Amino acid sequence: MNKYSIQDNTIDSVDLKCLVVSKGVKVANNVYKVYSKTHRLGVNPLMCNCMILSDGTIVQLTDMGFHLRYLTGILSWDNLKLLKYASELETPFSLRLHEGKAALFYREELVDFVSFPPRNEFYFQKTSSGLKFIGNAVLQGLDWVAFQCLWPCEYAAAGKPCEYCFFGGQFETMARKNKPLPDPVGAGDAAEIVKYAVERCGCNSVQITGGSTFDYKREYQLVVSYLEAINSLVGRENIKGEILLYITPPRDLKIIDEYFKLGADRIACSIEVWDENLASTITPGKINFTTRERHLAALEYISGKYGPGKAFSNFIIGIEPFESLKEGATRLAQRGIMPTASVWMPMGRPVNGSMQAPGVEYYQKVKELFAELYRKYGLEPPKSRGLNVCIERDIWNYSGQGQMSGD
Ligand code: SF4
Repeated sequence: MNKYSIQDNTIDSVDLKCLVVSKGVKVANNVYKVYSKTHRLGVNPLMCNCMILSDGTIVQLTDMGFHLRYLTGILSWDNLKLLKYASELETPFSLRLHEGKAALFYREELVDFVSFPPRNEFYFQKTSSGLKFIGNAVLQGLDWVAFQCLWPCEYAAAGKPCEYCFFGGQFETMARKNKPLPDPVGAGDAAEIVKYAVERCGCNSVQITGGSTFDYKREYQLVVSYLEAINSLVGRENIKGEILLYITPPRDLKIIDEYFKLGADRIACSIEVWDENLASTITPGKINFTTRERHLAALEYISGKYGPGKAFSNFIIGIEPFESLKEGATRLAQRGIMPTASVWMPMGRPVNGSMQAPGVEYYQKVKELFAELYRKYGLEPPKSRGLNVCIERDIWNYSGQGQMSGD
């Protein structure tokens, strides 16, 4: 794992990933020009670019120049609002050509030379029904195909989106304007996207994600339809890594058994924020509609029946005090539930009135904590190489238990 010196601070690649994900990067135009023909790097923010540090760590590459223009478009932000947060959205990181290669800079200091995944045609495809891949699915790192939101979020449409969630914000706006919510992505379409990603882009792992729902039976039908379609079109045996499923904790826990039978490897009912007061502001739908109890019941059901690490809950790293995050992550890990860590990207929607990400010390404490929990309770995150904003596998590698994500 690389060590870096930034402004006289020694940090490693997990710390650097956290800083870069939370701050974004200014990408020079000539980086796109040189690399986009041969590598997976594009100017459309829906392409979910990533870069690869020289030790193989995969890092989300949010170009702040494009990102701000994109946000003003989709969220119809007025200039005043943007001005209010403009100073919080400044990034010290830039990506430029240096000695003919792409290099990451912290202000004027060279941090590392980086690379990108090889180019493929994923984002230019449509399914046989005409659904564009772009906007519905993304490739992450080298191994993952992930769906952003296969079915709309009913909590957001009911006026309770999570503050950090782009899709939640969009669904809330649609509902407020009395616009109909989009239909869920068809199972056949989703399976075709997975097939292309596996057969043509080298992916071996899949994330299935949708919005939170009020009707667990309806969500069950959707999830089963996706898993069955993937099984019949791609074949579970051809997905060599893992299928992760993110669900609303159902009232009837037995339906979870069906998901495992159909090929899910792990299931998340993500709590995101442990502190309940903060959660009522940041994740109002999850805490009020689903309730903390139902999340815990579903997670404990899975870990009790299927073993350590089969249940997991994501935490958004950077939006709550370290102490409450520690309490939540520890409580879950003690019960065999893996706390996973996705770095807050405060670049679109203010959370609790702020777009200010924490400093590196916060991320370092999280890294130490999660490494210890993973070690102590035998929780190993998926092996696949690199999720853009999630750091659980990077932390595992850091803890000396695994190999680098590039291996
Ligand atoms: S419940 Fe999930 S999809 Fe809905 S707003 Fe929150 S994070 Fe977004």
